Amino acid sequence: MSVENIFGFEQSYATELEGFYVPWQGASVPEPRVVQLNHPLAAELGLDADVLASDDGARLLAGMDPPAGTTPLAQAYAGHQFGNFVPQLGDGRALLLGELIDRAGARWDLQLKGSGRTPFSRGGDGKAGLGPVLREYLMSEAMHALGVPTTRALAAITTGEEVRRPQSVEPGAIIARVASSHIRVGTFQFFAARGESERVRLLAEYTIARHFPDLVDADDRYLRLLGAVRDRQAALVAHWMSIGFVHGVMNTDNTTVAGETIDYGPCAFMDGYDLGTVFSSIDRHGRYAYGNQPAIAQWNLARLAETLLPLIEPDDEERAIELATTEVDAYAGIYLERWLERVRAKLGLLEALPGDEELIRELFGVLEGKDVDFTAFFRRLSSAARGDRTPVRMLFREKGEIDGWMDRWLTRLEGEGGDAASRADAMDRVNPLYIPRNHNVQAALDAAIDGELEPFRRLLTVLARPFEERDGLGAFTERAPDSFGSYTTFCGT
Ligand code: AMP
Ligand code: MG
Repeated sequence: MSVENIFGFEQSYATELEGFYVPWQGASVPEPRVVQLNHPLAAELGLDADVLASDDGARLLAGMDPPAGTTPLAQAYAGHQFGNFVPQLGDGRALLLGELIDRAGARWDLQLKGSGRTPFSRGGDGKAGLGPVLREYLMSEAMHALGVPTTRALAAITTGEEVRRPQSVEPGAIIARVASSHIRVGTFQFFAARGESERVRLLAEYTIARHFPDLVDADDRYLRLLGAVRDRQAALVAHWMSIGFVHGVMNTDNTTVAGETIDYGPCAFMDGYDLGTVFSSIDRHGRYAYGNQPAIAQWNLARLAETLLPLIEPDDEERAIELATTEVDAYAGIYLERWLERVRAKLGLLEALPGDEELIRELFGVLEGKDVDFTAFFRRLSSAARGDRTPVRMLFREKGEIDGWMDRWLTRLEGEGGDAASRADAMDRVNPLYIPRNHNVQAALDAAIDGELEPFRRLLTVLARPFEERDGLGAFTERAPDSFGSYTTFCGT
């Protein structure tokens, strides 16, 4: 297969959403080279990995040589950043190359990040460094392996340039990522803020057809679009919370309507359970702290609702607000359901019983403020379910409270019947053993920046099967040594 036709891009966004983008090309870079390629993902997408890895493939993945007849583009969007509305953000360092239809018939965006300046770059250089590119690669693939809806990493490309950031000078790089789309709450806000409700309608129709085809013929489809996005966000954030994931920059421009995790800038996994956990250097007030994520998703949903009001009830704003508010308010109950489902599964509970929420809240009350490793705690609970409480108890200095809770939990478990072993096995299938621990991630990225990619590749392999205990990987289950100190992340991809 030649490089010209390897992708066979479709371009529904470009053809149907005139005005929502600027046609653009990647910057010319001296030495594009594919340094990491996701072979399983390439196969799912029906792409020829050998062609992608070639010199021509690298130029294409750097956005320099768009295939004939295709229109790479920079998408326009607005967004609330840390609560402040910015009417124009847009792809300042990204390009949508086109859409791919995978072997199962699903449509995916192929987007490049770090491919140079665009009309939306404002003061930025349009570039990305190798560290943040590999960070996104690793984190998004780890999330995928954990079963969380997410953008995927297809390839990391180095450019042969240097990229300067306040905290570093690194090799320049580009990530080629795949998403079910890049339509954000901020995409809706872009024209809504300009009062162009017919453009918002166009986007809503496109979004419904692409992501919620069941709603295409519904008379109340704009209201139901809001409900459908709500349901996906509630499920997504409940999943994040269940694995200790802190996104770090839940701005409305980083919230997709398809409900995938997107924009792995300052994200990280929590070590010790603490609702106040923040890693991002710019999140000084903890707006996007671990424990705030469910409420922030609802706040973002309310911003989407505002953009849809003129469509929901064109001649009666009061009624539109009433209807939309009902949808947004329902988020809390739906989120709670999704969260309880996730935590029940973590605890090996198959049935839903009235006392579960109390039992679960009691557990988090015991964990709060004790700096107990979140991931290890849940993973070790399966030992307790098998009859050995020691691994769990070792995580606590004071054992009294957790013993009391385990008594109640085990009684509740036994009440369900079934055999303990298969219940414990089911727990191990939802409580990961291997997560991207900050010290491991940082060590892998530091080595990569020094030209040694092996630690990164090894970590990627470990994280590809997060639930399955394997020999020789014990070190990846351990907390950072005290010497690692507190961890700070940066947005500067
Ligand atoms: P993010 O924090 O990654 O979600 O980005 C927020 C906005 O800043 C988006 O519009 C980005 O395109 C833009 N941006 C971030 N970094 C750069 C950069 N190095 N050059 C140009 N634009 C950037
Ligand atoms: Mg972003």
